[in-house]
Amino acid sequence: MSTVVENLQNVLAEIEIAKKKRDTKFSDSVTLVAVTKNHPVEVMQTAIDSGAKHIGENRIQEAAEKFIKLNRKVTKHLIGHLQTNKVKQAVQLFDLIQSVDSEHLAAAIDKSSAQIDKVQEILIQVNLAKENSKSGVEIENLQDLIAKVDTLKNLKLRGLMMIAPNYAEVEKCRPLFRQMRQIFDDLKAKRQDFDFLSMGMTHDYKIAVEEGANIVRVGTAIFGARNY
Ligand SMILES: *Cc1c(COP(=O)(O)O)cnc(C)c1O
Repeated sequence: MSTVVENLQNVLAEIEIAKKKRDTKFSDSVTLVAVTKNHPVEVMQTAIDSGAKHIGENRIQEAAEKFIKLNRKVTKHLIGHLQTNKVKQAVQLFDLIQSVDSEHLAAAIDKSSAQIDKVQEILIQVNLAKENSKSGVEIENLQDLIAKVDTLKNLKLRGLMMIAPNYAEVEKCRPLFRQMRQIFDDLKAKRQDFDFLSMGMTHDYKIAVEEGANIVRVGTAIFGARNY
């Protein structure tokens, strides 16, 4: 278990190095979300005791089972695709839902949030590379989705999320991250409370930070390979 501590420290150190390589116009701090999916609650607890302040899960059922056993304080991120029939649970479980990608889903989250008197913080997931295998709104439809979210009183849009393609040559992700930061900055200039850009996972988080990510979602580099 002590390796989790070491790995977490190592990832935090790598983030600091990447921050130093950024353009000076990026002054944001970077939040590390430790992705604990497919690992038991004990691993989540070890991560929190080792200093993780944010954890990420991608499935509602699994998250619910673990959170009920978790007796630690931590900020909880939903990073996986959300189906409308799980929305009610999701708003009860998560501080930030990073994977909003349709008007239908946004409306459902708003409705369930209203029922428990919550203003749910969300990110919109963008499928910048137009991969068929990935969820996320296509860039052409982003403005329409934002306009819809802005009509919903129990949602607060805090920023954008993106998953880069799993290129063998990781440098290929760089232009996508750069483009995403530009889109984010253009929106941020006109909006309040719009400050999170979530991009970068184990294989590409250093490049993502260099290109302006301020949330990275890292699992494997901290916890090792997942058993499915
Ligand atoms: C699993 C997952 C991660 C973490 O992936 P690693 O490669 O293990 O770091 C990040 N983001 C999302 C959306 C994921 O589903």
